[in-house]
Order: sequence, then structure tokens, then C-alpha cells
Amino acid sequence: MRRFGVSLPCELAEAVDRISQETGATRSEVIAAALWEYLETQKDHKKPGHQCLGVVVAVTDTFSDVGDAIEVNKTHVVAYTHVHVEGRCLTIAVVRGDGSKIERFALEVAKRARLARYIPLL
Ligand SMILES: [Zn+2]
Ligand SMILES: [Zn+2]
Repeated sequence: MRRFGVSLPCELAEAVDRISQETGATRSEVIAAALWEYLETQKDHKKPGHQCLGVVVAVTDTFSDVGDAIEVNKTHVVAYTHVHVEGRCLTIAVVRGDGSKIERFALEVAKRARLARYIPLL
């Protein structure tokens, strides 16, 4: 076992606490389970040299939150669309390129978004 400090957005920390209370698992167990699942789904797609095709989905307050990241990474963004749902911006970007670069783009989007997912497809 190793201990280290991790900062989480309040909303995410509350979700971890809620799952912990509902299941009786400790916070560490909830986070470890989530992390294992994440690592399992992502491991092959993020290898440098792997040409990845996938979709980045993000919910933001304004388009510029994610639009800036798209502009900077436009060589990896094949196409994107942007719609409004419940007063928020929903952006769906089709991405293709080196797995590690796509990963960097997805993390950049996640930093600026209320909610973001990278769904690797191929
Ligand atoms: Zn891939
Ligand atoms: Zn918008």
C-alpha cells in the first residue's frame, strides 16, 4: 500500500462519499475500484505509437471552455459538434491520432469541463 494526497472537485468527492456510504466500502476502496476500471479500459489506447480513434464528450458552461482545447489540438480533432442541453454546452469531438496525444487532449478538456469522457473506439 502507498498513501498519497489527491485533490478532487467537490462534486466528485461527494460522489465518492455517497458510494462509500451506500456500499460500506472505504473511500480508498471506491477510488481504487474506479481507477482499476479506468486503467483497464484505457491501457492499450494510450500507448505511444497506437493510432487511436475515439470520441471526447464534454459538458461545459460555455463553448470556449472546450473550444480552446479543440483549436490547440485541431490536428487530432477530425470533427466536432456542439449542442445546448439544459442550459449547458455539450460538445462531441471525434478524435484520431497517437494515443498519448489524444490522452493529453482528453485531459485538457476534462480540466475545463464539468463532465468529460474519452471513449476510445479503435
Ligand atoms: Zn485506440
Ligand atoms: Zn454552447
